[in-house]
Amino acid sequence: MTTTRQWHGGELRQQRLTGDWTILAPGRAARPHGETGGCPFCPGPGEDTPPESWRLPAVDGVGWRVRAVPNRYALSDRHEVIIESPRHDWDPVTGSDAELTDVLFTWQQRHIALRGYAAQVVIFRNHGRAAGTSLSHPHSQLAGLPVLAPGTLRRLEAFREHHRRFGRPFASDELAEEFAVAERIVHSAENTVVFAPFAPTAAYELRLVPRRARADFAMVPRPELREIAHTLRLVLGALGEEIADLAYNIVVDTAPTGWEQAPFLTWSIHILPRRTVPAGLESATGIPVVTTTPERAAACLKARLTKATGAG
Ligand SMILES: [Zn+2]
Repeated sequence: MTTTRQWHGGELRQQRLTGDWTILAPGRAARPHGETGGCPFCPGPGEDTPPESWRLPAVDGVGWRVRAVPNRYALSDRHEVIIESPRHDWDPVTGSDAELTDVLFTWQQRHIALRGYAAQVVIFRNHGRAAGTSLSHPHSQLAGLPVLAPGTLRRLEAFREHHRRFGRPFASDELAEEFAVAERIVHSAENTVVFAPFAPTAAYELRLVPRRARADFAMVPRPELREIAHTLRLVLGALGEEIADLAYNIVVDTAPTGWEQAPFLTWSIHILPRRTVPAGLESATGIPVVTTTPERAAACLKARLTKATGAG
């Protein structure tokens, strides 16, 4: 009576009682921590990755701007690393809008490529040791899961139920409410808005949401993608000023496979600063303890953005 899914070097196991899943990935223990030799992601003689699955060629046609390669220390049988730049010291904040747009475009392309083989494909970027990064070369990841995560299922059901009752996507109502209250809005642009969620799971947690509800992040058109890149750079810059030694996870919440057209779903991007490890109460209950109110976090970040952009 045990449920497992296996792949080379890993295994997904389901808890009997709750149905929750655990990924066993003993191969990941062998991940490099810090670069002792050269960097495997830097182009050149020291480059050491599995054969690439995709690339965005450089303008000169010789090199590359962004590459996708299978993850050598995979969390699932469809797990890719997106090498975001040939430059070891590249960062979204100090890079350009065009460069980060390339990265977001790659997320879209690889999501489309992988989702036919998975129940859901998660997109994430870890920055800083406290957020789980083992390599400092700028990179993000896409992992296809053969099952829907319980949290994904729960949200799917809640979104659907809200739409059934009110005839509108939950995200549209939530955004309207945030605008009415206004104090948690950090940044608003033509197509997207960033706010600090009412009940955050981490201090300074932020969500970037589209004004127009759309389930599938992969279908976001290019001009909007560029706006998202610009906004992310602004917001990450403000977070970096606010929090010393900023570590964060960025997670794209998008439609699971088969739900890309669902009228009740809306994609969003979560920015989760990581400062503390979960303590006893959080481990015991699953209830996060957050030490900064979202209202205060939003006010601080908004003040920094206003100073940075010279506008309100
Ligand atoms: Zn490197």
